Amino acid sequence: MSKLQERYTGSVMNTFGPPALALARGAGARVWDTDGKEYVDLLGGIAVNALGHAHPALVEAVTTQLSTLGHVSNFFATEAQVSLAETLLDLLGWTDARVFLSNSGAEANEAALKLTRRTGRTRLVAAEGSFHGRTMGALSLTSKAAYREPFEPLPGDVTFVPYDDVAALEAAVDDTVAAVVLEPIQGEAGVVVPSAGYLAAAQQVAHDHGALFWLDEVQTGIGRTGAWFAHQLLDGVEPDVVTLAKGLGGGIPIGATVARGAAATLLQPGNHGTTFGGNPVASAAALAVLRTIGSDDLLAATRARGDQLAALLAAQSGVVEVTGAGLMRGAELDGPYAAHAVAAGRDAGLILNATGPSRLRFVPPLVITSDDLDVLAAALPAVLDTARTVAGLHQETQETRP
Ligand SMILES: *Cc1c(COP(=O)(O)O)cnc(C)c1O
Repeated sequence: MSKLQERYTGSVMNTFGPPALALARGAGARVWDTDGKEYVDLLGGIAVNALGHAHPALVEAVTTQLSTLGHVSNFFATEAQVSLAETLLDLLGWTDARVFLSNSGAEANEAALKLTRRTGRTRLVAAEGSFHGRTMGALSLTSKAAYREPFEPLPGDVTFVPYDDVAALEAAVDDTVAAVVLEPIQGEAGVVVPSAGYLAAAQQVAHDHGALFWLDEVQTGIGRTGAWFAHQLLDGVEPDVVTLAKGLGGGIPIGATVARGAAATLLQPGNHGTTFGGNPVASAAALAVLRTIGSDDLLAATRARGDQLAALLAAQSGVVEVTGAGLMRGAELDGPYAAHAVAAGRDAGLILNATGPSRLRFVPPLVITSDDLDVLAAALPAVLDTARTVAGLHQETQETRP
């Protein structure tokens, strides 16, 4: 353990467990630890560092804004805040719509949750395997028992249905439901992609009962899947509410709740607020991210690098399934050695991430290069092999199989 990791343990509340590494700096999709060791970053700060580390456009935007006007409160308007709201509406293609800016994914979802209460209904329908954040409201929509149970009773009246099951939604949704909330691709569950047609059908079920259709694009949004928003890859899917965060600020904390049509005016003056939300520095950061994704054609790059990543993962012995879209990929291993793969990856200079015993998730910066992925391709076979051995699992070779 490095000195910094020791100081961490002595001063930072132990909610995350001990930190795996002490990191000192980054550039593009590479980071360096405090000993100077280099890593290819396949986690991207959990799908956050869309432009990678230390991107000049982000540095410039934040520096310029901070040296001009850093924070003013929501008593006042700023150019950065309004431009960001306008840009998000443009990218969504929504005219009759409004944006509420906050500081995180959980907060974006809290605002959306409060918005649904203004329909006069209180029931919500969410999916098993969902993750919507750790604050009490967002947690009430998050299915994982280990996250929920220590904090019950949670607010809300939430029914969980199996993901990717239209019949279960039809059975659960009635005219008392305020909203159906889903991730277009479940991220924390390990990059779980629903069947074609599921989200359109879910939207139809919600609308048949006068409920809002709310997509949590906190992880899938902002280019992650190769489209600005994952739902734009699907025919006929146009949610009433979209929540965003993670990649939006490229590492500067920001969240956004976007609502259209009747949903756009459900929150009225006095109904919700935030001190920091929409502050000019965070807004300028988000604008720099959105502009750079556009000007550098990072949506096309995300699709190309995403295909390269998916192909190299599928080629690994031990990987039995590759899921996802763009640069949001899941890899199912042939045994419960994902945590060992993360550890072996660190030794080999890779920042990997496990979402389950046999599941790896890859959500690297959208600026990751072909060379970065070649480093991954070269290192991964030995990493998986070591992980299997450490886990005490010995893969049968092709020859010994019957
Ligand atoms: C990460 C995540 C959240 C929570 O975001 P925070 O910024 O950690 O509060 C909510 N929804 C989804 C889909 C996420 O992936």
